[in-house]
Amino acid sequence: MEIFNTVSTLQQHLYQLTRSGKKIGFVPTMGALHEGHLTLILDAMEENDIVVCSIFVNPTQFNDPNDLKKYPRPIEKDTQMLESVGCHVLFLPEVEEIYPAGLVEPEFDLNGLDTPMEGAKRPGHFKGVVRVVYRLLDIVKPDSLYMGQKDFQQYSIIAQMLRQLNSGIRLVMVPIVREIDGLAMSSRNVRLSKEGRAHAPILHKVLQEVEYYVNSQPFPIPHKATELAFDLFKQHGIEQIDYFEIVDGNSLKTLHSFEDSHFAVVCAVIVIDGVRLLDNVILFEK
Ligand code: AMP
Repeated sequence: MEIFNTVSTLQQHLYQLTRSGKKIGFVPTMGALHEGHLTLILDAMEENDIVVCSIFVNPTQFNDPNDLKKYPRPIEKDTQMLESVGCHVLFLPEVEEIYPAGLVEPEFDLNGLDTPMEGAKRPGHFKGVVRVVYRLLDIVKPDSLYMGQKDFQQYSIIAQMLRQLNSGIRLVMVPIVREIDGLAMSSRNVRLSKEGRAHAPILHKVLQEVEYYVNSQPFPIPHKATELAFDLFKQHGIEQIDYFEIVDGNSLKTLHSFEDSHFAVVCAVIVIDGVRLLDNVILFEK
């Protein structure tokens, strides 16, 4: 695997490859890699000649300075993991490479997709995500971009950005990779205590119960599904629910009736040991 720290050396390398017609797949990450990230890399490897992974803990998307400071950065382990799956290129830039002085950055109309859920809980977060993904795409110029369903709202926002750019970049959504007990893999899971880790799978269990309710009832109602979820959280001693939303998967607007949508997704964040656990389940897509 070739490792580049600067935009110019990376671009020189990629230029040679694209000139000879090689297709580039790109997987942006913040590191502390796990099997979820590796699945994105493997999917990208199947569909492209060259896979570029970036590891960049993007300061502009952290609204909590403590979260940024505490974000794990096990770079040697990450490099080994990427090598183990045969990733071709790792881009590992410093902040100054991504945000040089005088950089001109476009504004995007996110069509309100950035206001609910994560947007409401983490002001400015998606502005930072859009900034970094735009900048990375401008540097790497991939044919395809791979993002996880785990961050469903982020995926929707990047899809909206790409539509506005008319970039021709193909966006691929990779399903959530989970631990055996259902907990969605996340770089933040290492911060859970032993008890917290044992408690954490309840989030996915509740989302599965909601999915079962919606797909087994003749006339399910979002409001009832939400009540069911809150009852279950309460029964299992979950006190801190950042949000629980049943939304239309295209507009991310709260659904008041399942008849209003062809694509329904339940998204939630609970907090255990001060760690925000984010998950979602696609309820149906007709
Ligand atoms: P991050 O390093 O958290 O910014 O994540 C980088 C990419 O990996 C994003 O597109 C995430 O949605 C994706 N990702 C993170 N966790 C998972 C997971 N458990 N399953 C699938 N994709 C994931």
